Amino acid sequence: MSQTAPDFDFDAVVVGAGAVGLATGYALARRGLVVAVLEKEKAIGQGVSSRNSEVIHAGLYYPTGSLKARLCVQGRRALYGFLDSHGVAYDRCGKLVVATEEAEVARLEAIENQSHINDVEGIAPLSAAQVHALEPDLRAVMALTSPQSGVFDSHGYMLALQGEIEDRGGAVVVATPFEGAEPLAGGGFRVRAGGADATELTCRILVTAPGLGAQAAPGLFEGVTADGLTTLH
Ligand SMILES: Cc1cc2nc3c(=O)[nH]c(=O)nc-3n(C[C@H](O)[C@H](O)[C@H](O)COP(=O)(O)OP(=O)(O)OC[C@H]3O[C@@H](n4cnc5c(N)ncnc54)[C@H](O)[C@@H]3O)c2cc1C
Repeated sequence: MSQTAPDFDFDAVVVGAGAVGLATGYALARRGLVVAVLEKEKAIGQGVSSRNSEVIHAGLYYPTGSLKARLCVQGRRALYGFLDSHGVAYDRCGKLVVATEEAEVARLEAIENQSHINDVEGIAPLSAAQVHALEPDLRAVMALTSPQSGVFDSHGYMLALQGEIEDRGGAVVVATPFEGAEPLAGGGFRVRAGGADATELTCRILVTAPGLGAQAAPGLFEGVTADGLTTLH
């Protein structure tokens, strides 16, 4: 059973109910924290998270040792597990990365090599004949098959995350823009939430995940300049 830290309304406030904010809220809620996610729009997932291709990327391309390489592969494995356990629709349909002319083969081989370094499962080269057998209308001299790539219902995913946060005693509050925050003496934040029921609330942890609003967010913190360079104290 979750229990809010003493003297705070919520253990954590997350700004933005897109895929990132909701996944962050879920990760905090799983650790037993009581979370409030504030969303300025009238529904969750109305930003970039509802305007993308819904592809689950396998993690082929990212540079060795980069966070992207590690998190894309780990995140993809975790995402399929979450979708399975929550009944969210997906199709692990696989992907072909094609070279349409000989000059592109070396690049394809470099991608294959990188995918092995990144520990991506199942990447294999296909000859022109193999590609033709799979996709007769495709013109390619070579391809890589990426069986772990897929597509998913991103809104169903966000709804499942919202359910997890609420089941753990948290709240996802729409039509409630984050309008600013000030650090509290002794730690934590006082958060100004706007909208029809404008209010203030306190929290120990404040996470901003406002998507395209990310650059503006630091300017809403007292003690932080618009470029986010001044440290809170
Ligand atoms: C064309 C395109 C295609 C893409 N295709 C893919 C793909 O196939 N696979 C993939 O993995 N990724 C893809 N991406 C990337 C992916 O969509 C994003 O990385 C992801 O959706 C970002 O989620 P987010 O939660 O950070 O942002 P958002 O979904 O934009 O969420 C931010 C939320 O914060 C809210 N907000 C902003 N300011 C405030 C405020 N002051 N107070 C309260 N709420 C606020 C917004 O209303 C919004 O709901 C694509 C991106 C684009 C642009």
